Amino acid sequence: MTDAPFRFEIDRVKTHASRAEIVASLREYGRLHQCETFGMREYDGWKKRLVTSDTIRRQFGSWAKALHEAGFRAVRGQKVDPAAMVEAFRACWKEQHSVPSLRQLEAFLERKKYPFRVKTYGAFFGGVGPLAKRIVEVQNGELTEADLLRRVERERPARPPISQKLRYAILKRDREQCVKCGASPKKNSEVTLEVDHIIPVAEGGTNDPKNLQTLCWSCNQGKTDAPN
Ligand SMILES: [Zn+2]
Repeated sequence: MTDAPFRFEIDRVKTHASRAEIVASLREYGRLHQCETFGMREYDGWKKRLVTSDTIRRQFGSWAKALHEAGFRAVRGQKVDPAAMVEAFRACWKEQHSVPSLRQLEAFLERKKYPFRVKTYGAFFGGVGPLAKRIVEVQNGELTEADLLRRVERERPARPPISQKLRYAILKRDREQCVKCGASPKKNSEVTLEVDHIIPVAEGGTNDPKNLQTLCWSCNQGKTDAPN
């Protein structure tokens, strides 16, 4: 193991540690928290951390490399473990006595040091809502546990393109200004206008002019098509 070259630094704020010290600290974290792996945020939340996770990441090239050197599984690129995810979800549900919200689940995963995050549920199970439904189906004997653990292929509705003609008609109807804040490229050349679906396509919104509105780029950023 090669230590990083000596650097002259004021000791008060620790911004540097040798690789050996960092590895020892990561192992200490793992020992205290009994986990096979952990993320940067979890380490940063530890009062006795040696340096920030960002310092570790920079020194090792990546957080995964640092974890690997300390003998942990890398968080990134690890295989999704649907059984563990479902187990965690059921435990959280029982604890809440109702279907957990995304925020409740995220807090639960964080607190129990699970190596996966809420967004993995979205990617694998199509969201926590669909997963909750399927868990009830298993309980009712309508679905097998094996089927529950299968990845859900999410059908994303194809976004029907808004034709140039329609786009122009909407811009004209909305007097070429953002319907939310009134920004217009006529007044400010930096403003970009976009034609937006009021009800997102993912939720069944169509290209009917009544479902279309003119928004400036920044007002449109506040919106997202994603169901979670
Ligand atoms: Zn706007």
